[in-house]
Amino acid sequence: MDIKEPPLKSDLPERVRWFVRLRWFAAGGTILMGLLGRWAVPEVDASPLLYLGLAILAYNVVFRSLRPWLAARLSIHLQIFLDWLALTVLCHFTGGADSPFILFFLLHVVLSAIVVSQWECFLQGLLAIVMTNTMALLEATGRWIPPSFPGVPELPRYENLTYLLIFLGAFDAVILSIIYLSTFVVRQLRRREASLLELQDNLRRAYHHAVEMDEAKSRFVRIVSHEIRGPLAASQSLIKVALEGYAGGLNDKVRELLERAERRIVQLIDYVNELLDLSRGSQRLPEEDKTDILIYESITRIIKESEARVAEKQLRLNVQIEHPHVIFRGDLQDLERIFHNLLGNAIKYTPRGGAIDVIGTLLPDNFFLFKICDTGIGIPAEELPRVFDEFFRATNAKKELKTGTGLGLSIVKKTIEKYGGRVAVTSVIGEGSCFSIYLPVITLDRSV
Ligand code: ADP
Repeated sequence: MDIKEPPLKSDLPERVRWFVRLRWFAAGGTILMGLLGRWAVPEVDASPLLYLGLAILAYNVVFRSLRPWLAARLSIHLQIFLDWLALTVLCHFTGGADSPFILFFLLHVVLSAIVVSQWECFLQGLLAIVMTNTMALLEATGRWIPPSFPGVPELPRYENLTYLLIFLGAFDAVILSIIYLSTFVVRQLRRREASLLELQDNLRRAYHHAVEMDEAKSRFVRIVSHEIRGPLAASQSLIKVALEGYAGGLNDKVRELLERAERRIVQLIDYVNELLDLSRGSQRLPEEDKTDILIYESITRIIKESEARVAEKQLRLNVQIEHPHVIFRGDLQDLERIFHNLLGNAIKYTPRGGAIDVIGTLLPDNFFLFKICDTGIGIPAEELPRVFDEFFRATNAKKELKTGTGLGLSIVKKTIEKYGGRVAVTSVIGEGSCFSIYLPVITLDRSV
């Protein structure tokens, strides 16, 4: 993949702002130095530093005010040029070629490498070299005399021109090398940034494609399941008619075969219904189709419907739901599908004499937490992350119960996520499982 560097142009205005922001510190520092110099070394005239600081402040104000009108690239180059000039003057008044502030040229070169292109940075670097070298040569030849500081010896570099030239050569080489290295690193970073942006774009496209494919799959499943359900229901009623003897007498063998066929058809109808539920689970619900549902009523209805199965397996069912007036905005069938699957599983996978707890609590962030816990067969730890996958059935469940589609939990997950909620599970094999669902709710009156 050939990744191109993004054009510098796009973020130049932001860089202009950044430069201006940094310069307030430089101006402040120089003014402070001037004031401190006046106070600490009164025998040296520190006012040039004060004026220099004010000059930096002034041109920074100008660049800040001109920002909306001055082209960003031109502004950056003018700023860098004036910075070189200011730095040269600063160095002159603080020791010439020996000034510690000469190091700021190196720092500024790195900053410039970040904001302008490689060749522009080299051109600016050459300007800096011309200015510093001219300053040093003018000072060494006595044409621009730097102030001397009491207690600081005269500059030895200026006494020997060869030594000064070697120093300047080394300084220039360092400047050029820093420009090369910094612009190289900056280019690499910009390339990496570009490839990340491209990757992000690809991911976004892949995600949209996956969503579209998923919708197409759901549509396909819906159509096919719908077409299959009709003939299946018709076959079931025909077998029923035959079993009830309306089509003439049946011998035992034929009756047994028809009963087996009916059982299989019922299983198939369940399967088809679950497939339909699965595609409905991920179907987006238009806002106008949502209704306000009392969660408490809905779960109580599902519990009532399950009472016969609970009693048949002699299970202890403990229901504890706080805040019975909490409202869920959505589709009643969706909500009941969630409860139906989770409670159904708890009953199905809990051996006779076990216990099931259904606990509902209102959380502070307008989410209602439902916990459905059982003392059933549990789920093997290594299989737990896959229980919400479509068609997945844990190995112990397959051994205990031959029937099951492995679709119930994926229906639950898809349906809950459609409303911005989530589902989680903890389980210990042989001890039981606990499913927690977090549903977004509306609380009209928190006191109830
Ligand atoms: P099904 O129950 O039809 O197999 P589900 O999608 O409802 O499919 O559940 C997927 C799997 O998760 C089950 O096959 C079972 O292994 C496991 N499972 C779900 N609920 C429980 C539970 N309450 N206790 C133990 N295992 C469970």
